Amino acid sequence: MARYTGAVCRQCRREGEKLFLKGDRCYTDKCAMVRRPYAPGQHGQRRKKMSEYGIQLREKQKARRYYGVLESQFRKYFKMANRKKGVTGENLLQVLESRLDNVVCRFGLANSRPEARQLVKHGHFLVNGKKVDIPSYLVKANDVISIKEKSKNSAKFKELAELAASKNIPGFLEFDKTSLEGKVLGVCDREDVGLELEEHLIVELYSK
Ligand code: SF4
Repeated sequence: MARYTGAVCRQCRREGEKLFLKGDRCYTDKCAMVRRPYAPGQHGQRRKKMSEYGIQLREKQKARRYYGVLESQFRKYFKMANRKKGVTGENLLQVLESRLDNVVCRFGLANSRPEARQLVKHGHFLVNGKKVDIPSYLVKANDVISIKEKSKNSAKFKELAELAASKNIPGFLEFDKTSLEGKVLGVCDREDVGLELEEHLIVELYSK
């Protein structure tokens, strides 16, 4: 599937917020949002009054970029969320949070979502004992996520295990820091979403 291949930090600068797409670098003063905290491009430093549509669009783009989802897939998620009972915006966040690459990142088994996506694609993870190499795979309650035995002993995963040990795990997930095995307990609560977002703006945008 196609994916964004442009400059990564540009996406944060465009949204005016850290989206933590580069792992460790995001926490240092090398972060582009520290060095150049304004929109990219020739007119990036100009103050511009945004229209209602512009505000809604930016909120949608922020969510899309944070979770690393392309427009077509994001629309599909919105349709799924809209069909479900409950608040559409919250349903949308629940769908996004249940992507396998996001769950791997929330366990701390990757430095960033793009890295989690790559590790999943390289076939390092099992869901209920079966290899799943699709980052967009949607996990559900009681799914068990583990690392392939061969991968677990690699230098990369030994390093990531240290990161996982220091991570706070959101309430909808459970993670054993010794066996590096995790379980999905249910759907993500609104307060467990790691991104500050006004999801109702996305609903308004797509409901036009
Ligand atoms: Fe965003 Fe990370 Fe780049 Fe900073 S270093 S601009 S948080 S991707």
